[in-house]
Formats: sequence, C-alpha cells, structure tokens
Amino acid sequence: MKILVANLGSTSFKYRLYDLGDPSEPLLARGAVERIGSDSAGIMLSSAKGEFEMVAPVLDHGAAVQLCLSQLTSPDFGVIGAADDVAAIGFKAVHARQLSGVHRVDESVLDAMESYAEVAPAHNPPYVKAMRMLHARFPKLPLVAAFETGFHQTIPEAQSRYAVPDEWATKYGIKRWGFHGASHCYIAGRMAELLGTNDARIISCHLGGSSSLCAIRGGKSVATSLGMSPQSGLPHNNRVGDFDVFALPAIMAETDLTLSEILDTLATKSGLQGISGFNDLRDIEKAADLGNSQSTLALEMFIASIRHYLGAYLLELGGADAIVFTGGIGENSARIRAGVCRDLGWFGIEMDWMKNSTGEGERTISAPSSRVQLWCVPTNEEIVVARQARDLLSGKGA
Ligand code: ADP
Repeated sequence: MKILVANLGSTSFKYRLYDLGDPSEPLLARGAVERIGSDSAGIMLSSAKGEFEMVAPVLDHGAAVQLCLSQLTSPDFGVIGAADDVAAIGFKAVHARQLSGVHRVDESVLDAMESYAEVAPAHNPPYVKAMRMLHARFPKLPLVAAFETGFHQTIPEAQSRYAVPDEWATKYGIKRWGFHGASHCYIAGRMAELLGTNDARIISCHLGGSSSLCAIRGGKSVATSLGMSPQSGLPHNNRVGDFDVFALPAIMAETDLTLSEILDTLATKSGLQGISGFNDLRDIEKAADLGNSQSTLALEMFIASIRHYLGAYLLELGGADAIVFTGGIGENSARIRAGVCRDLGWFGIEMDWMKNSTGEGERTISAPSSRVQLWCVPTNEEIVVARQARDLLSGKGA
C-alpha cells in the first residue's frame, strides 16, 4: 500500500511517498513545491531514479498535488505505475476541537478544524483550505488526518486538566491537548528498539521551529509541555510559549491593540524572535557569539524553559532511562543540548561533551558513567503518519 504524506504550508506542499506494502517500508520518493500561487514555483523531486528541479507556475495546492502525481508516474522519475496506486494522502494535522486520533477527512473533520482556526492559526487555515481543494479535485483519493494530539490521549487527567470550571474542560475540551504527537510517537518506538525494551522511561525533547518535551512511560505519553494550543509550553521560534492570560488586560490598557492583534503578536512575533529579533536559532547563536545580549537572553530563556519541564518529567517518571533530542534544534544545536544537560550529575545525567559537539545522525551523547542515556535521534514524523493512514484504511486504526 503506497501512502503519500503531505506537509502543507500556506504556500508550500512537501511530500514523501512510502510503500507500506513492503515490510521494510521504503521511502520511494520525496519532493516539494514551494511558492505555490506564483509564476515561479520551485518544484523538486527526489526518487531512486534521480533528482529533478524546475521552476514553473503552480496555481494552488490542487495543482501542486496534480503535478506531484504526474511526476511520480512519469517515465523519467516515476516510481509508481499510475496515480491510482496511491492509496491515500496522509496529513500531520494539528487540532480539531475534541476530535483527536486518525480520521478520514470529511466535512465534519474540516468543520472541526475550521472552528479552531484561531486556536491553531499557523496550521489549521492552510490545512483546511488545501484539504477542501484536494477533496474536490480528487474525490476518490482518501485523505487521512492524523492529529498531533492523538499520541497524548494517554496523559492522565491530573496532568492534562487546567484548573478551570469543570464544564469548560468536560463540555468544551479546554485542556492540555499536546502536539508533536507524530514525532514523540516515533521517538517512543525508536527508543524501544534502541534500548531493547518497551518499558523505558523516556523524555523526548522535540526542539525545532516549535518545541515540546514529552514524558513517555512504556511507550505512552504521560505528560507534555504543549497545552491547549501550539502557542504554549516552551518558547517557539515566533510563538510565545507559556504565558499568563491576565497580562492581556494590562497590555490592552497600555497599548491600542485589540485582543485579536495581541493574539496575533503572541502567535507570530513572540517566542525567540520576540526576545532576540531573529526567527532562526542559527542566527540567534551567531548574534550571541558577537555579543548581542538579547540573543544571549533568548538562548538562556529557551534552555531554562527546557530544564523546567525536564525537571518536572524526571520527577513524574521517577528518573529516566533516556533523554532524547530531536527536531532541527535538538538534532543540530550542540550548544542548546549542552546548556540543558549542564550540572545534572546529581540526577545521573552526564554528557560526553566531545560526542555532543561532534558527529551527526542517530547516536548517544552521554558519558559511559551516565545513569541516564542521552541520545540524538532524527525524528521521522512522516512514517508515523503513513502507518496511521494505512492502519485506518485497513480497519486497524481509530
Ligand atoms: P519545524 O518545527 O518547522 O519542522 P525544524 O524541526 O526543521 O522546524 O527546526 C527548525 C529550527 O532548527 C530552526 O530554528 C533552525 O534554526 C534550527 N536549526 C537547524 N539547523 C541548525 C543548526 N545546525 N544549529 C542550530 N539550529 C539549527
């Protein structure tokens, strides 16, 4: 069964095609269409037959998927015989009110996502728009939404509830839903393989454009730092992270901003960018090296926030067998990893500083004497979504 996994941005469509009929689950092709809507969209495809790049007009996401299917079936680079060979498109969808888990995309799913456009403003609107378009254009091709909240449904109520009136939680679903489910799920599964046990206590640190920690016991999420929305928890690249809502009336009183303008600022101009002025951690690290104090502060705040949740999850799990770094920052920033792990000998956490600052890919970065293993593990959210789509289509998923 061949599953296309789509990663949508407002003007981009990135995809990977997996063959899940083969037990080794090979990645058949990956590609991207960027600057959708322009006359000069960038189109890339990489398959076993070679790599291909071009610039051409691409009107919308429907046209991007059409292009992707014709390239995947082309004699030059194609890896499938016909577009019908694609059993489904799977989406790493974010938030659909009280709908979690994995679902065939239909009007009720789209309505639920649409109703949370303001809760997940960077994610839900482009997904809903593109899914509607694809649904209309390819009515027979199943679209499957694997929600990022799904992996966190095992979190006990004592960890997932906010202390709000009971009705808000039970009737309206105002609670810590958690996100990055596909990534933390991948790390849980991969670490079970690497550690040779399904019973491990793992703290998964997904650090990237958006970041979260997840406490995992026996392969299941038991706590996570993201809450009701993807704007919570750790500071993200441009989203605020944890924030006291009673600051809102104070900001409104001090500025001319409306509530929706403030929310937009919190969701697009805050986080590491709000502190340092830079959106990308590489730029923040460079600026800090040149003595920029706001960038140094952004790095220190990011590390402090990671350590805040790390400490909480060490208590929650009663220690840890492994702490795992993943995501663009987790996999690549030796400086952030070193900052997080400094002076934690009391907890049995000892980094091998040399291993941390050299090497790449999947590897341990802990000292031999460390009771807690430290790992860098590149995540693979797409394979998780592909498997979830396959399971739903074959009647195994929920
Ligand atoms: P997203 O959450 O959007 O999927 P990624 O997981 O790819 O993003 O992470 C993007 C982040 O990773 C950016 O802030 C980028 O600066 C950071 N990053 C990528 N490579 C490096 C690197 N070599 N050193 C430090 N940070 C890096």
